[in-house]
Amino acid sequence: MSESKDFLRTIVEEDLKSGKYKEVHTRFPPEPNGFPHIGHAKSICINFGIADDYHGRCNLRMDDTNPTTEDTKYVEALKDAVEWLGFDWGANVHFTSDYFPKLYAYAVELIKMGKAYVDSLSEDEIREYRGTVTQAGKRSQYAQRSVEENLNLFERMKNGEFKEGEHVLRAKIDMSAANMKMRDPLLYRIRHAHHYRAGNAWHVYPMYDFAHCLSDYIEGITHSICTLEFENNRDIYDWVLDTLGLTLERPYQHEFARLGINYTVMSKRKLLELVEKGLVSGWDDPRMPTIAGYRRRGYTPESILNFCDQIGIAKANSMVDVAQLEFTIRDDLNTKVPRVMCVLDPLKVTIENYEGSEEIEAPYYPHDVPKEGSRKIPFSKEIYIDRDDFMENPPTDYFRLTLDQPVRLRHAYIISCKEVIKDAKGHITEIIATYHPDSKSGSDTSGIKVKSAIQWVDAHEAKRVEVRLYDRLFKDEAPEGLEDINPDSLKVIKNALVEPAVITDKPDERFQFEREGYFYADPIDYTDAAPVFNKIVGLKDSWGKKKEAVKPALKPQVKKVQIEGEVIPMNVSEQALFNTYTGEFGLNSEVANTLARDKRLSDFYEEALSH
Ligand code: ATP
Ligand code: MG
Repeated sequence: MSESKDFLRTIVEEDLKSGKYKEVHTRFPPEPNGFPHIGHAKSICINFGIADDYHGRCNLRMDDTNPTTEDTKYVEALKDAVEWLGFDWGANVHFTSDYFPKLYAYAVELIKMGKAYVDSLSEDEIREYRGTVTQAGKRSQYAQRSVEENLNLFERMKNGEFKEGEHVLRAKIDMSAANMKMRDPLLYRIRHAHHYRAGNAWHVYPMYDFAHCLSDYIEGITHSICTLEFENNRDIYDWVLDTLGLTLERPYQHEFARLGINYTVMSKRKLLELVEKGLVSGWDDPRMPTIAGYRRRGYTPESILNFCDQIGIAKANSMVDVAQLEFTIRDDLNTKVPRVMCVLDPLKVTIENYEGSEEIEAPYYPHDVPKEGSRKIPFSKEIYIDRDDFMENPPTDYFRLTLDQPVRLRHAYIISCKEVIKDAKGHITEIIATYHPDSKSGSDTSGIKVKSAIQWVDAHEAKRVEVRLYDRLFKDEAPEGLEDINPDSLKVIKNALVEPAVITDKPDERFQFEREGYFYADPIDYTDAAPVFNKIVGLKDSWGKKKEAVKPALKPQVKKVQIEGEVIPMNVSEQALFNTYTGEFGLNSEVANTLARDKRLSDFYEEALSH
């Protein structure tokens, strides 16, 4: 458990201490209409994490009430994600669709109590009748229907006797309620669609507000944790359970702020669009913010768990810097994975005065990493270095190989450049170098000073590999849509060279390619004949600088209220406004938070109110 307790754990602890519940029972309730993303990871960590911390249980429930968008492949992806993150949902996965008969029976009960009615207004009329924030709504004339008529119509709706949109079932609550959600919310609608599990058995499907609270109740959930946008739905949640008299050990809803990350879109609808338009290779494309994408890219479950822990749980929505996620994976791999050499853009170097060959023993880990292990690196007269590590006309701060500046070959000798060979177009094709026999790493007596050590591979023993370099999928800090996509988010290098130790038949292998970053053997495309490596993350945050250069001048900036996982507390006057907005004005805390923290917005809001 993390050291400081968040507000949800505080609530759970109090409820256990007061004896309200004997055991905490949470649930993670995704709709199987897409692959889970990093926002879901946060929800998974909260729900399963709380159950683990307090020796309770957490259900995995498919919230599958919308037949047109759901699919078994998404159910499988959700199970994979929860399992990969290391959580256990117990004996079986739960499905809201399994409760359709029970939910229907509860709806019939509400009708019998005079608390629900079949409405036959059109969709537009329903919207119109609802009223506005400042104006009460008006109740439909169909609300007068007798219980018998409602029962009859609802049954015929179920049996498929009506067209979609012809009727809906609504709760009879209060058409002038301040909370607009309470103005006779819809409970059921007609859908003539095949459901991936329930088949064609149903022609009515329950709405979220009706299905969710009852599914929680049926499963014995104690704490129903959801994101802030459901704050106003809480009144319906309570109304349904209380009206049906399901009050014994009943669940209560608690909201937390959803995770947003800059340079990232995080809605399944938008992610589906990326997949369907072929802008990525699939839901598990390593650039996708899906758990399957991170997994294929080479992120570890530990890094995702650490990230979710570090960003904390807040009551106010905020934007987390993607650099923070990148930091957690770098931090996790830093001491775990072996360091080896890869040359991404090979330039041949012939060492004129070297004859024969040798194998150089080199450690996988630097001295300060408490891990052991080494490999033998072949060395001979012909090697490759990276094209970037040589310059003919270097700037003054260039520390690598030049015509008159020697450089160390990592783990091996110091070399000096003797001659540069070019093709007819003036393109460098080869370097002729000399090596210093008494400069070998670990037993250097040459006295030669070098300013850096570069990676290299032996020309005869190196293996050709494909390397996929990923950059952020969106170039905009707050991407609005697919037009903000980064056209350079994938760069494929077909002819990179690695030292032989990098070729392994162990699955799930990660390496640090020295000076380049962390890499992962692609779990799908890697074969012995054609190895493929994904770049997980660079060695340091290189985007900060790049960002300055390409930042579009006119785009609005995201207001970051959360930096490094800490929500900046409101100042006294902001807090006072927040209290007024949530208390007196009855705004939900998400909206109140946005208004209170922005002086211009709150001034505008109050001016508008005064008119
Ligand atoms: P999306 O908008 O991406 O489609 P959703 O909320 O519709 O997400 P669900 O499948 O309904 O997706 O969500 C399952 C659970 O995950 C819900 O409890 C939801 O609140 C939570 N969740 C979804 N997105 C986030 C997020 N960005 N941060 C935290 N929790 C999230
Ligand atoms: Mg949803």
